[in-house]
Amino acid sequence: MEMRIGGREIASADDAWIEVRNPATGELIDRVPAGSAGDVADAVNSAAGALDVWKKKGMRERGMILFHAAAKVRERHKDLARILTMEQGKPLREAIDEVRGYANILEFYAGISAQPSGETARLGASGDAIVVREPLGVCGAIIPWNMPVLIMGWKTGPALLAGNTLVIKPASATPLTSLRLAAILDEAGLPPGVLNMVTGRGRVVGEALVKNPGIKKISFTGNYTTGERIRELASAHLKDLTLELGGSDPMIVMDDADIDKAVEGALRGRFYNAGQTCTAVKRLYVHDRIVKDFIAKLKTRTDALNIGNGLGPKTDIGPLNSAEQRELVARMVDTTRERGEGTVLTGGSPVRGKAYETGHFYHPTLVTDVVPDSCLVTEEVFGPVLPVLSVPDLDTAITRANSSRYGLGASVWTKNISTVKRVFDEVQAGIVWVNRHLTVPPEIPFGGNRESGIGRENGSHALDQYSQTRTLFLGW
Ligand code: NDP
Repeated sequence: MEMRIGGREIASADDAWIEVRNPATGELIDRVPAGSAGDVADAVNSAAGALDVWKKKGMRERGMILFHAAAKVRERHKDLARILTMEQGKPLREAIDEVRGYANILEFYAGISAQPSGETARLGASGDAIVVREPLGVCGAIIPWNMPVLIMGWKTGPALLAGNTLVIKPASATPLTSLRLAAILDEAGLPPGVLNMVTGRGRVVGEALVKNPGIKKISFTGNYTTGERIRELASAHLKDLTLELGGSDPMIVMDDADIDKAVEGALRGRFYNAGQTCTAVKRLYVHDRIVKDFIAKLKTRTDALNIGNGLGPKTDIGPLNSAEQRELVARMVDTTRERGEGTVLTGGSPVRGKAYETGHFYHPTLVTDVVPDSCLVTEEVFGPVLPVLSVPDLDTAITRANSSRYGLGASVWTKNISTVKRVFDEVQAGIVWVNRHLTVPPEIPFGGNRESGIGRENGSHALDQYSQTRTLFLGW
């Protein structure tokens, strides 16, 4: 498949390609150009050329194009989801959720496009002021491989509605669905050059994008170390930044919780997308009084999960996205086991057997008796491994929940409103769910504190992140 610049498909200039392989089978699905700094420069020029036309359209007209694109995505959601499963590994029903989630995002921004924006101020004898919102200009978006479609939506919806043009760099492992979505947006009526997608390596294409002086803002989702590098490079031209750098979400289950509901919450919260989700449940703190019962139920449910190719009708959990990711996860579990820092209750190894040989499968894993400074607790585990820790009371649960350098999400499972208030007031997280985890609808702002990043995506707040105000001051 080719990349997309100025509304046209562009092949690799020097015949350099990146292979996209199915993580469940190792089979080659397709290849995309390994783009160059020159391709990035072309894409930025193309986006700059399209800016004037795009920003002069009214918000409502831009919103209508997003709305038409959403309708086309819905029409083709089955095909798109199939490709997403093949390149990313997730079960088909999760891929369908993700593609529909992308349409939801475009529809949300289309929906708010008809609302008047801006403000006025009456300033007495000095005069009156009219404050309008204007786009930043050409923005860059760098997308990870774990939720490539949804995260592309979080960046594309608000950036385009606000009147910016875009250059997107998809992850090298998962460019195929994103390229199709870019083509759909063009088909829906985006003027050529408004949305460009350059495939290629992070070190080459990603860095060229961040360094390009024509780019006014970078929105990045991925690893903390990459985020730091991007921040360093972006400071050269005072670029605006949104960084979403992952999390280690705590889930707190108190002794008054509905245990069965909480078990289902932990199961989905941790094993959805094979655990490769920034807001997954990554640390489970359960009250002493119910921990035994809770663990027994969670183990039964975990052992019943079907592992397999995401295209299989019964699959609950697919492979990890790459051999490196599986290796990383396996190493963390092995280290914990070797150091006696936790007991592997179930799982704890790659899946063996003929059907799994060429894929990157890892057993859904529960680790109990975990010490608080095990790497499973202190690091972000991006895979299907859940450390379970028992806590004697809410104070301890809150202290432990906060003992992380991340602050993306957290959940508390209880029937007591005072417990809810304490967790919301005291746990450092951008979102606190009650009797739920993982839900991130487009209507509400999303983003974290501490090392989880800076800035917010989603909601009308995200429009502010892709615009600047200008003021007309009327001195009468
Ligand atoms: P990266 O941060 O390396 O990749 C995310 C995106 O950034 C990809 O498009 C990648 O391109 C690009 N990129 C990589 N290096 C640079 C660079 N120097 N400049 C600009 N762009 C760059 O994540 P990994 O794929 O390495 O994943 C590693 C870990 O990151 C995971 O184990 C997980 O802990 C965390 N992660 C968190 C995510 C989240 O949602 N918060 C999402 C993904 C990962 P390319 O694909 O070409 O390398």
